[in-house]
Amino acid sequence: MTSEPGYPPCPLCRSLERELAASWEAWEESLSRRPDGPMRLEAGRSCGVAEDRPELLSCSSCGSVSMYPLPSDDQLARFYTAYHATSGFMAKAEKKVARARKRLRLLTPLSPKPNGPKRRFLEVGASIGTAAEAARRKGFEAHAVEIDPDAVAKGQELYPEICFHKGMLQDVPVTEPFEMIYGAEVIEHVPDPEGFLTLCRERLAPKGVLYLTTPDAGHFRRPKALLDWHSVKPPEHIHLFTKAGMGALLKRTGFGRHFLPFHTKPGMRVIALRD
Ligand SMILES: [Zn+2]
Repeated sequence: MTSEPGYPPCPLCRSLERELAASWEAWEESLSRRPDGPMRLEAGRSCGVAEDRPELLSCSSCGSVSMYPLPSDDQLARFYTAYHATSGFMAKAEKKVARARKRLRLLTPLSPKPNGPKRRFLEVGASIGTAAEAARRKGFEAHAVEIDPDAVAKGQELYPEICFHKGMLQDVPVTEPFEMIYGAEVIEHVPDPEGFLTLCRERLAPKGVLYLTTPDAGHFRRPKALLDWHSVKPPEHIHLFTKAGMGALLKRTGFGRHFLPFHTKPGMRVIALRD
């Protein structure tokens, strides 16, 4: 397989072998077959991304799919200012707390003993902070960081004992490290996942646990035709990882020890441990 000239290497595994998976025109055309199509068509155009006609490139080496060119911070800010998903999150809040609680039962024994009286937990891209609330109920000192001020306001009202931070991971004040960082369906939204994982590692305590969930582009139950897969939604989802792509990026960012357990649905679970 030959790579198209001019494409930069795969942002996840660094391979130069990348090829066109879908043009922007094909993506927009596929929207006529989706219930969320009209909203996505309008969202892509009003934030300015559609003008750049970004392509979806697949990596012949790791199989991951990424947008190229990447959306700018400004375009993403416009996209997320216009489109909130908070109302759905509110309705399912207690269900989400329960799901996070189940995951924490497994993860907490993997996390190191705290320096202070409590283990510190940070939920990134937290929305209203349901996993942080589950951690708080389990005895963690719970922090949550979220870029959408609307979600932060609702979270603070619902869970007043969580320490909320507005913004992104880099906006969380640097004090004590965290024994656990948790990000559900977040890394696929991040333009620079290598920078994101590097920052996660820096903010974790030695032997700290990073837990992520993200769609799995290499899963056997993913629709064969890429554009038939509901997780394809540029510019909301920028990188769709396979386990090979995720494993390569984890290794490069200092998470040599990680598990990507089997999952029955086309979603990936990442458990990574800091050295
Ligand atoms: Zn790759």
